[in-house]
Amino acid sequence: MEMVRVENLKKTFILKSKVLGIKTGEVHAVNGINFGIHRGKTLGLVGESGSGKSTTGRLMLRLLEPTEGKVLLEGQDISKINNREFRKMRKNLQMVFQNPYAALDYKMTIEDILIQPLHIHKIVPPLEYKKEVERLLEVVGLSKKARRKFPHEFSGGQRQRIGIARALSTKPKFIVCDEPVSALDVSVQSQIINLLKDLQKEYQLTYLFIAHGLNVIKHMSDQVAVMYLGKIVEIGEVEEIFKRPKHPYTVALMSASPIPNPEAIRNRIHLNNEIPSALNIPTGCSFHTRCPKCMEICKEIEPQLEKHGQHSVACHLFDPKEAPYG
Ligand code: SF4
Repeated sequence: MEMVRVENLKKTFILKSKVLGIKTGEVHAVNGINFGIHRGKTLGLVGESGSGKSTTGRLMLRLLEPTEGKVLLEGQDISKINNREFRKMRKNLQMVFQNPYAALDYKMTIEDILIQPLHIHKIVPPLEYKKEVERLLEVVGLSKKARRKFPHEFSGGQRQRIGIARALSTKPKFIVCDEPVSALDVSVQSQIINLLKDLQKEYQLTYLFIAHGLNVIKHMSDQVAVMYLGKIVEIGEVEEIFKRPKHPYTVALMSASPIPNPEAIRNRIHLNNEIPSALNIPTGCSFHTRCPKCMEICKEIEPQLEKHGQHSVACHLFDPKEAPYG
């Protein structure tokens, strides 16, 4: 059963001049994306900075209002319900942030940080706060004594464990993990990844796992979606995407990944220039300004995300009508 689904999801930011408030441009941060995540599964969302990954995560938690499209949680469109209704289901949606240093209020004890959501969402009666805080700390591998300390007394990995405990405190159904290990030492990253996987198994959690590197995505995900300038350019089962990457952008990301991938090594692509601004998205295929396989058609006609073999890709190289490849 699908826990979450997004349909034709779009977010456009309008830029205005500071003085006169006149519209000066539009940023198409998320530009019509579709996917679903089954209960207890993880969709890994990968792409460079500026591809729209974090905006997608925030739209799915209703931290941002979509310009168009739907976000369905167990079939209910959470982008349309009123604030009162949404407050009731808010506890089902949580986020683990990228920066465990900034995400925790340094003036609060860990106990206060964890009691806050228990209190707001009435998860347990006040008399049980202490017991529940200790349980949460144990669940994420920290000592009960940690409740009396302040965030600065912990390492980066321990703070991320506290961030995860806070996300778990409301017994959520869906968690957006927004680059949860990228600010951590490599030695700690795998511990946090393993913790998230163990918790997923135990509590049947559904994750959107955002990362800019494919190595972390591979360990964490059941499905992978590759995002470029607000669109999904390739999506499929993790095994399939890693065995047979099709889109030149996916191949380029794999070429840059420390995980050796025979397909990516064979067709190695290096990304030299920067991702274009979402203010000025190239015509046709938005990747054409960086794609070494670019053809004339790519500059004018936008390829659609279509099923080719076991997964879906948006690239003219795989369109039998337009190109000699198949
Ligand atoms: Fe490259 Fe053309 Fe495919 Fe875009 S559609 S990724 S430019 S080959």
